[in-house]
Amino acid sequence: MLSVAPPPAPTPAPRPESLPAQIDLDLVQRFDKLGPRYTSYPTADRFVEAYDEQSYRQAMRTRLIGAVRQPLSLYVHLPFCNTICFYCGCNKVVTRDKSRAARYIHYLGKEVEMQAALAGDDRRVRQMHWGGGTPTFLSDHEMRVVWELLRSNFEFTPEGEYAIEIDPRSCPPETIRLLAELGFNRASFGVQDFDPAVQRAVNRIQPYEMTRDVIAASRAHGFRSLNVDLIYGLPKQSVSSFTDTVERVLELRPDRIALYSYAHLPQRFKPQRRILDVDLPSAAEKLGIMARAIDLFNRAGYIYIGMDHFALPDDELARAQRSGTLTRNFQGYTVGPDGDMLSFGVSAIAKVGPTYSQNARELPAYYDSLEQGRLPIIRGLELTADDLLRRAIIVALMCQFCVSIESVEAAHLVDFDEYFAYELEALKEFEELGLVEREPGWIAVTPKGRFFVRAIGAVFDKYLRADKNRVAYSRII
Ligand code: SF4
Repeated sequence: MLSVAPPPAPTPAPRPESLPAQIDLDLVQRFDKLGPRYTSYPTADRFVEAYDEQSYRQAMRTRLIGAVRQPLSLYVHLPFCNTICFYCGCNKVVTRDKSRAARYIHYLGKEVEMQAALAGDDRRVRQMHWGGGTPTFLSDHEMRVVWELLRSNFEFTPEGEYAIEIDPRSCPPETIRLLAELGFNRASFGVQDFDPAVQRAVNRIQPYEMTRDVIAASRAHGFRSLNVDLIYGLPKQSVSSFTDTVERVLELRPDRIALYSYAHLPQRFKPQRRILDVDLPSAAEKLGIMARAIDLFNRAGYIYIGMDHFALPDDELARAQRSGTLTRNFQGYTVGPDGDMLSFGVSAIAKVGPTYSQNARELPAYYDSLEQGRLPIIRGLELTADDLLRRAIIVALMCQFCVSIESVEAAHLVDFDEYFAYELEALKEFEELGLVEREPGWIAVTPKGRFFVRAIGAVFDKYLRADKNRVAYSRII
């Protein structure tokens, strides 16, 4: 198996914070191409079935040989949702049958125990994330069972970050108390839009007061780095209606805000067929909604972290960005170091050493594997030296907005200018537009270029170069 030392964290180039007051909307349209979000590189659509359970077991054995092991991150996928949100493109199971969770937890337990055995005697955990679906679909008792299951198999460090995605519609304040008692200390709230007309059009009825109360309860119980998810481009949205939503969100003062663009791909995501084209904002209106929201975030003092994410200056993400320890994984931006991630549940993706692996995407296949005593891995990838090199560059661009050429050359033993002659030529377009600057020893994204960091990072994506299948990805706007 290939083993390459991780590159030393580059010293970030000095740079002013956040985005310029005005985003260049002509450039937004110019670079509004379908592209990956780079929560991994290579992206999951490059995983191969030849990478199987045995490959994963080998990766875990190799991990145990490593002299220095970072504490683990854990991801737990809980796929059930009570109702369907029409815009949703996640892997979820919509059901009102609460009893289905018990069977899922039974198999999750088997998987956790098998994985813990592979992790050997080093089971320290520094980060955990429960995502979905809707983790709070589970009853309080079931959430306690899952937490105990994990705690009896892994060792959670007291200073760790333990996060959960919360749907305010299925999480009364009493449940927040339980989550805090269990050990969760970070939370992300799905909001999307407070306008009742938009909520009806996407089948997600969630009164403002419900969100306000669950956020207040989270603060009262010691949760930190609270995040709110918003989506622009939804049906019935306008600049004026979304301004109201953003202003109400800013009153709640979350530590972080994620602002996602709605990608209408009804041919790919069946629930989106229930969204009427006629209700969608025009391209110009959508652009206006985005620009207005970013302007309001800027005025309210939020820092642009990168791709869709904003944070208050004293939030961990903003601090990590300043100190050069920000990184990116399957949950988006996170605070480093970037160690191994074990993942549990249907469709979950793990990262161990220079490998990725993914579990079965459907419940029957997931259950069936575990019933037979096999890990439910269906595909994955062992990264090549070239993949690792490009991943380091894309992560540095996405997280620090700059790349130290010297660090890359030292860690990966390449002559940068020679190895990336094609990419450096392609970067010239961004340089001419003032989005990227090349300085001796550095490639730096300018403040004007930050909003386009996905397009800039994509220059280094070897797989995307000849890609005819960009429909699998989302757009900037
Ligand atoms: S948006 Fe969240 S709650 Fe709604 S269907 Fe998708 S996963 Fe479930």
